[in-house]
This record gives sequence, structure tokens and C-alpha cells, in this order.
Amino acid sequence: MDYTPVKGTHDIFGAEAKQHNYVSFVLKSTAELYGYKGLETPVLEHTEVFSRGTGESSDVVRKEMYTFLDKGNRSVTMRPEFTAGIVRSIVSNKYYATEDLPIKVFYHGPAFRYERPQLGRYRQFHQFGVEEIGLDSARADAEIIIMAVHMMQNLGFNKVNLKINSIGDDETRTNYRAALVEYFSKHIDNMCPDCKERLQLNPLRILDCKVPADQEIAKGAPKLKDYLSENSEKRFYDTLSIINDFGVEYEIDDGLVRGLDYYSEVVFEIHAISDEGKDYGALGGGGHYGGLVKALGGPDLPGVGFAMGMERVVNVMNDNHLLDEITDGVDFYVMPVGEDMLDEAFNLTMMVRSFGFSAETPLANGKMGSMFKKAVKRKAKFAIIVGGNELERGVVNVKNLATQEQIEVPLHNIDRTLENLINPQENECCCGGDCNCENEEHDEGCCGGHCCCHHEE
Ligand code: AMP
Repeated sequence: MDYTPVKGTHDIFGAEAKQHNYVSFVLKSTAELYGYKGLETPVLEHTEVFSRGTGESSDVVRKEMYTFLDKGNRSVTMRPEFTAGIVRSIVSNKYYATEDLPIKVFYHGPAFRYERPQLGRYRQFHQFGVEEIGLDSARADAEIIIMAVHMMQNLGFNKVNLKINSIGDDETRTNYRAALVEYFSKHIDNMCPDCKERLQLNPLRILDCKVPADQEIAKGAPKLKDYLSENSEKRFYDTLSIINDFGVEYEIDDGLVRGLDYYSEVVFEIHAISDEGKDYGALGGGGHYGGLVKALGGPDLPGVGFAMGMERVVNVMNDNHLLDEITDGVDFYVMPVGEDMLDEAFNLTMMVRSFGFSAETPLANGKMGSMFKKAVKRKAKFAIIVGGNELERGVVNVKNLATQEQIEVPLHNIDRTLENLINPQENECCCGGDCNCENEEHDEGCCGGHCCCHHEE
């Protein structure tokens, strides 16, 4: 029995799991600001969803899918990407007929590709993404790019590198394909076996080849921008002009074609090199697609979307210290001083939770020293020490485990004091601690900086 995880898969535990939840929460909340709704589709789809949708000539479909026959002898595939499955869902549920167009959805979950594992590349990874289906306009494409950048800003990135290109309409790609066939036919004998196959299936895919010698040859290939039809060129510059008006910086990358077959017109990627100089590759990418809905049996509706790789985003954010606050610790660790304080400690813990703070209590009697050690191991921010003498006076001691500072806190307004300890700036008292609330104990810090003057501002 091999107890290690399957190659290229990984377990996500504790602080890392919380970071993933936080990142997906920020991404979902931002998508909701733009009117997107959640859509969850199955991991398993009929294999044709991807072979017809994602495309026969893409590396993902040719080499990387987890495809098998189920017990009923049907060929099924664990999704290597979401877009084809999302479109399948919109077609099979006829959402295009029952929902107002455009349909705007977001998704989040695991995807599977049999790739060579390396930095930022796994066999099971997680994507968050969005799709907008049913509106064909440069403005729709621009809005989704602006939203992608907005998401990165909401995650705390000051700067991301947005690479953008247009791979044009059908006319553009037919002409460009012919030019590529002419160029690569002269070099194909010296290229890798994959490229030989790509030349037959879709010469555009040769531009994705990772073999250095082939990349050198590809540098001399005709450039897509020289083949853009008039319509595609106009549409591309309209999109750029809209994102530019919103202050979104971009870099036009002639070589960007994206690895999946369904794209047409604008395509883009978001890159960020971490502060530690690590390059995790593209954090996310997407673009417009013309024929996908039709290819999967639906009406002729266009779409635009993108997907972010959760692992890559979380890794770069960790390197850039954007997730330092997201830990798997609790806010308060409540310690009974002696066995007869167990009930009081338990009740207080429940009360602290009812205020909306995370709290734990050991649930068993123990020595103070070992409880403090446990509190540190649970990464608690504060310890609340529940002692008999203090309770008789209506107070408990609260110790900041980072600074070791300890204060006595009256129980009658403990909710406000704890709030002030956890979120100090947000709850600063309007009177700066100098209130005339007639509460005799105010100067002794009874309110933890929270006066009871009830001054709303
Ligand atoms: P794609 O679906 O190929 O357009 O990829 C969108 C994003 O998903 C990429 O920019 C990556 O962040 C992420 N991604 C794709 N493949 C992998 C992988 N094998 N491991 C981790 N992340 C991936």
C-alpha cells in the first residue's frame, strides 16, 4: 500500500485551506458585484464534452485528460477545465431560453490534467472562473477583463501584468492558419513529433510548444496581428480603448494564443511574479469564444470567460505576504483556573462564539502552564483566564499572547471589549477615551476604549 498522495495531487489543510476559502470568497464576492451567479457542474462529463468543446487539437484533450470507461462502458472524463462543462450545462438545461441573456456565471472547484508536475503545475488543481454567454460585444469582453483585474486588486495585488492579444475571427484564423502551414512546412522535419501532429490538426497549437528549439523556429513564424481581419482589428482596439479608459494597464503580446481551441477574438492572461522572484506562470487566462455553444448542441451564442488557478494565486499571495492575516488559529482560548471553573469557562466560550469570535476551551482540567502552551499551539490571539476570585468580582483576565500584555475585563460589557481587542481601529471610541458617560470606572478602562456615550458617530 502506498500512503503518499497520487503524483501531482496534494492535500490542503488548516491555514492553507482557510487561505483557499478566503481567496475564493473574494473572487466570488467580486463576481457578484458584476451580477454573476454560481453554477456548479459535475466533475465527470461525457468525454465528447471536452473533445468537441475544449478541442481535439489542444494538448489538454490529446494528452492530459483523465478519461475512462465507467461500469456501463461509457467514456467519461474528469473535467480538465470548466468552460466546456459550463456550456454543456447551459445547453442541456436550456438556460439560454429560460434565463435573461447574457447568462453570467461563476464556478469554483477541482480540475484534473495529466501534466508533468512542477512549480505551480499539478494534476489535480482548483480553478475559479466566470463565463458570460449570449452577448457579442467588445464591451462585454472589456468588462470581463476589467473584472479580472478588479479581482486581483481586491485580493491585494498592487500590480499585475495583463497580457492581451486578438486571435481574430474565423476569416483571420483561416488566413493565418494557411500562412503558418506554409511557414512550418519548411521547418517541420526538424521539429518535435507533437508539432508534426499539430501541423496536421491545428498549426496554431505549434505556437504553444514548450520545446526550446521549436520555440526558436516559432519566433520566425508569421505574426497573427498581420492577418487580423478589419472587423477583428476594430473589435480588438475597441476593447483596448474601454479597458484603457478604466486605467487598466496591459501589454499586447503577439505570441499569446492560449492553449484551448474554442477561443476567437480577444484572449488574455494575468501574470504576477512573486516578491521572491518566483514565476508561477499565468495566474489566470481566458478570452472570447465564438462557436462553443453551437459545437455543444446549443444555439449560435458567443461567450467570454476566464479561469484563475487557485493554487498559483494562493502561492504568489503567500510569497507577497498578502495572506499573513489568514491563519487557522482561534481568536480566544478560554482557560478555567481549576476544575470548578470548567462550567464557567465552557459557558463563557459559548458566549464568545455567540459574539461572532472563534473560541476554544480545553474541556478538561489542566495546569495553567500546559493550557498556555496549548493556546499557543492553537494559534490563539488571546487567552481568557476564568478564575473564581475574579468571577466573584465580575471580571476575567484577558492576555494578549503576542505581547503578553494582560488586562482585567468586566463581564458586563465583555462583547465590546473583545470586539475592540480583535478589531481595534474599527471600533475606536468617538470620544478618544475621554468621555463623560458618568460611568465611574471609565478611566480604569472598563470599556476597553469603548465608551457608553452612545454617540453614533
Ligand atoms: P487554462 O484552463 O489552461 O486556461 O488555465 C487557467 C489557469 O488555471 C492557469 O492560468 C493556471 O493558473 C491554472 N492551471 C492550469 N493548469 C494548471 C495545473 N496543471 N496546475 C495548476 N494550475 C493550473
